[in-house]
Amino acid sequence: MFENLRYLVVGAGITGSVIAERIAAVLGERVLLIDKRPHTGGNCHSSIDPETGIETHMYGSHIFHTSIEKVWEYISRFSAFTSYRHKVLIRCGGKTFFMPINLKTLIDFFGRNFSPDQARELMAQERDAFTHPRNLEEKAISLIGRPLYETFIAGYTQKQWGRSPQDLPADIITRLPVRTNFNTDYFNDPHQGVPKDGYFTLFDRLLSHPKIEVRTGTDFRSIRDQVPASCLVVYTGMIDEYFDHRLGALDWRSLSFEWETLPTCDFQGTTVMNYGDVDVPFTRIHEFKHYHPERREPFELEKTVICREYPAQYVPGREAYYPVNNTRNQELLAGYQKLAKQNTSLLFCGRLGSYRYWDMDKAIESALDLFEREILPRAGKGSAK
Ligand SMILES: Cc1cc2nc3c(=O)[nH]c(=O)nc-3n(C[C@H](O)[C@H](O)[C@H](O)COP(=O)(O)OP(=O)(O)OC[C@H]3O[C@@H](n4cnc5c(N)ncnc54)[C@H](O)[C@@H]3O)c2cc1C
Repeated sequence: MFENLRYLVVGAGITGSVIAERIAAVLGERVLLIDKRPHTGGNCHSSIDPETGIETHMYGSHIFHTSIEKVWEYISRFSAFTSYRHKVLIRCGGKTFFMPINLKTLIDFFGRNFSPDQARELMAQERDAFTHPRNLEEKAISLIGRPLYETFIAGYTQKQWGRSPQDLPADIITRLPVRTNFNTDYFNDPHQGVPKDGYFTLFDRLLSHPKIEVRTGTDFRSIRDQVPASCLVVYTGMIDEYFDHRLGALDWRSLSFEWETLPTCDFQGTTVMNYGDVDVPFTRIHEFKHYHPERREPFELEKTVICREYPAQYVPGREAYYPVNNTRNQELLAGYQKLAKQNTSLLFCGRLGSYRYWDMDKAIESALDLFEREILPRAGKGSAK
């Protein structure tokens, strides 16, 4: 398997899969792509629930959205996307509101009409109260005022981070999206949707090049001694784990998912319902059949698949989902990046390798850039299109 191997990509998520596709398609080189999980797709993986025929996203809802034309052009080669537009609702104090905050949210919350100018005035009311916010709570109040903060942000944030917003740094948020119109879409990007034939088909097509060899259920740690020294390793796993945490472990937040099949056609009438109240232990419920209203069969069934999402502390063995951006972790990351530079046949990328939260489009953009910047020149080739 490793004889004469020149390219090894660790991690078959969107980042590793794009890199492998580029190596095979542009360089015409054999590439081995491994993943310790039993499937490709990383956190974007989806599968069809055998009981209901509903496509479920195994690691939480994934909606593709982008404003980056290069990324849209690239990913559209492997899949068509539906015209699904994501809406998010939040349930707080027994009522349901649209997120992000927009005129409809304000009208439902305050029980009176708002013009766009009145909404702007409302948001600005407490702007001067905290000119130097000391924590996330003060920052959020300065951006949207106390009543909206207490209802929509305080409880959800406390659950998400497992800490009071008063104990979280102000710079976790730079802005809170607020719309002064009736647009209830969650994303603004011109390109939005979910893969028409499922994420699993998108990944099958992305990895269909005959020069790509995929090995799932293969942990890098079990094969690292067999990798030839001359082989370029593109590593999309955790950067601190690669170095056996020798400088210390980077902090992450994790999630746990509780799945249920219910004997009803439609449980909540939408894909994602957030729960803002702090005494409700989960942050959201996903109902997957609503991602594909064009697939009629699941709507003819008196069954639906839902998943409750619970924030959780990260401990080794759990999945790492959200990096914790504070000074300690940034300094630790800089230390690992310095170690990485000492090995010229090793590149880190992806959300785990870069210790960054990236949506799929940013992960693809970063993979395409890494290929152009680092891998093409090593192969003595110019720009790829
Ligand atoms: C709850 C949640 C919801 C999200 N929703 C959206 C959304 O709606 N839209 C959007 O655009 N983005 C969304 N994202 C972000 C999206 O998941 C990421 O952009 C994407 O997964 C990044 O891909 P990646 O390949 O960098 O990482 P991953 O998908 O994590 O892939 C890394 C892979 O490396 C493998 N690996 C790690 N270590 C090893 C090892 N030692 N040996 C072998 N394999 C290894 C892992 O098993 C994994 O499969 C969401 C993220 C979360 C957490």
